[in-house]
Amino acid sequence: MTAPSIFDLTGRKALVTGGNRGIGQAIAEALAGAGADVAITARDEGTLNETVSRLTALGRKAVTAALDVTDTARCGVVIAACAEALGGLDILVNNAGHEEVRPSLDVDEGLWDRVVSTNLKGAFFCAQAAARRMTEAGQGGAIINLCSLTSYVGIPTATPYGSSKSGLMGMTRALAAEWAQHGIRVNAIAPGYFHTGMTDAFYRDPEWQQTMLAKIPQRRFGAMEDIGGAVVFLASAASSYVTGHCIPIDGGYLASI
Ligand code: NDP
Repeated sequence: MTAPSIFDLTGRKALVTGGNRGIGQAIAEALAGAGADVAITARDEGTLNETVSRLTALGRKAVTAALDVTDTARCGVVIAACAEALGGLDILVNNAGHEEVRPSLDVDEGLWDRVVSTNLKGAFFCAQAAARRMTEAGQGGAIINLCSLTSYVGIPTATPYGSSKSGLMGMTRALAAEWAQHGIRVNAIAPGYFHTGMTDAFYRDPEWQQTMLAKIPQRRFGAMEDIGGAVVFLASAASSYVTGHCIPIDGGYLASI
């Protein structure tokens, strides 16, 4: 008999916001691949339903729920309903995110609110709802936030996004410090450059691609398979003494600037 893997998530219940496409979908599949039952939420129910079959194909229970994370009252209701459907909640991945680039001199309140409400306010109220459930159950849990290179460096025309992702880094540290007493670990990952719906407009520009690749020591963009390992690590017993930290997944970008 082989010893159980410290990365094994069998029997764990996870929820991924924005789990219907892009990086969130890759995360949901990685968690299910490691054994977790997974709930995915997003605004678009069509892509939620397409993704759920990929999770059940891995032999896991999977549920979906429509949720706009800027609707903070709904965050609690939907997360409680998902936890009920899964039979608990051990892992939350705050992945839902929104980016709009615009010169800072032209940013208006609407843009600021769309970005910051999704990336920071939404993440906080989802974390709060999940932590309420986790503290009630008394088994602890793991919360993983999607930070960004903009949590570390300033990128022109991305001020609202960078502000939200830097705030999310601060939130990760504060909640880690506050909820350690409940056995809840709060960590983050910071993807580098990944080609998704969010970043597609950049990838259409070959000059942008060349400029960015020159800044990435591994000389390639991130692939979806690059994401799941760090999330499974942070969700599992393998990281039981890690809290309040962020793992960049960036091909060496931050190490070399
Ligand atoms: P996508 O645009 O492909 O996906 C964004 C996801 O967030 C979708 O699932 C979308 O679902 C969901 N979402 C957006 N707004 C809301 C909302 N108000 N309520 C609920 N769900 C919402 O982007 P990525 O996959 O690239 O991004 C995923 C995360 O990774 C984001 O937090 C992003 O900031 C972060 N990230 C991405 C990087 C990259 O290079 N791609 C780099 C660094 C960080 P729906 O529209 O159906 O609601």
